[in-house]
Amino acid sequence: MAKNRRLSVVVKGNAYGHGIQDIVPMLEDEGIDHFCVFSAQEAYEVFKVASKHCSIVIMGDMTDEAIEWAISEGIEFYVFDFNRLKKAYSIAKEKKKKALIHLEVETGMNRTGFDMNEYVELAEYLKEKDGFFRIIGLCTHFAGAESVSNYIRIKNQIKKFKKAQEILVSFGIKVELTHAACSAASLRYPQVRFDMVRIGILTYGFWPSQEVYIEYLTKKKTHKNPLERVISWKSFVMNIKKVKLGEYIGYGTSFQANENKTLALIPVGYETGFSRNLSNQGKVLIRGQTVPVVGIVNMNLCSVDITRIQNVKEGDEVVIIGKQGENEATVSSFSDMSNLLNYELLTRLPTDIPRQIVL
Ligand SMILES: *Cc1c(COP(=O)(O)O)cnc(C)c1O
Repeated sequence: MAKNRRLSVVVKGNAYGHGIQDIVPMLEDEGIDHFCVFSAQEAYEVFKVASKHCSIVIMGDMTDEAIEWAISEGIEFYVFDFNRLKKAYSIAKEKKKKALIHLEVETGMNRTGFDMNEYVELAEYLKEKDGFFRIIGLCTHFAGAESVSNYIRIKNQIKKFKKAQEILVSFGIKVELTHAACSAASLRYPQVRFDMVRIGILTYGFWPSQEVYIEYLTKKKTHKNPLERVISWKSFVMNIKKVKLGEYIGYGTSFQANENKTLALIPVGYETGFSRNLSNQGKVLIRGQTVPVVGIVNMNLCSVDITRIQNVKEGDEVVIIGKQGENEATVSSFSDMSNLLNYELLTRLPTDIPRQIVL
């Protein structure tokens, strides 16, 4: 990494399901002092547990009250339209405190960001209101850097971003940090690492896509995955049930026992992030062995087939993600089963599942 390049860790989606309040102090122990979030609510969660010197950047959703709070507390935020910019100005003026802003420019994702035809007005406004803003960042986001199929689109975005930089500089706008790259972009397009990278999924030990992973292995001529999963997800056997040949299992008729079966009921369902798409598809580990989900995943429960496993008892550990004995249930195996992206599965883990830190 370049000497002065900053690493911002993205902790939106409750730190990709890991839990902001647990993950932020651990990241700080590793020397991270910069955090990006989506909403003001998440910024507040980080703010509660992070040291005062850390930078917190809100990339998305904020109410007017949140803008007030952010300016008072020195929380940074994205500005991608004149509404927010003007609101920030009036609050900064009233509080006699500078708003710490990141100017987001539209480069082709067509999500948020100032358009090229707004730059003149933007530059003039910022110059006129000089003293009320500290322009910390100039930034953009790429529309799918994790897939080679978006190559042309990303290349065009890079060109457009450079153009935006030139134009704004030519109007006399000074920016402290230029940043654009998420995990995939920082791996595949090193030229866009600029002054700071915003890294989410890699931090937690997952690849943005299978494609990026394979490309990495090919480039490095290695077979070793340098990333390590941090999270495990465990539950327990709540009940054991015998079912006779020919009986249906659970709601409806999606699974009929083709032999006398023994089932274990697990208190995990779609309410707890175990998608209904995993009905008759999902797999978990019990006593070190992989067992299949049978029947429909319920709101709070699912059944697994333990007919071939000896000595399972109520209370036995069930591993949904992680290792047990010789076997491992990976997050990516879920996408094979249900089309859930890493990202989606992780962030769907409810905030109220108890998290336990194991060092
Ligand atoms: C989510 C997000 C990131 C991080 O993406 P990863 O693929 O998890 O690294 C970076 N920038 C923005 C604007 C984001 O929304």
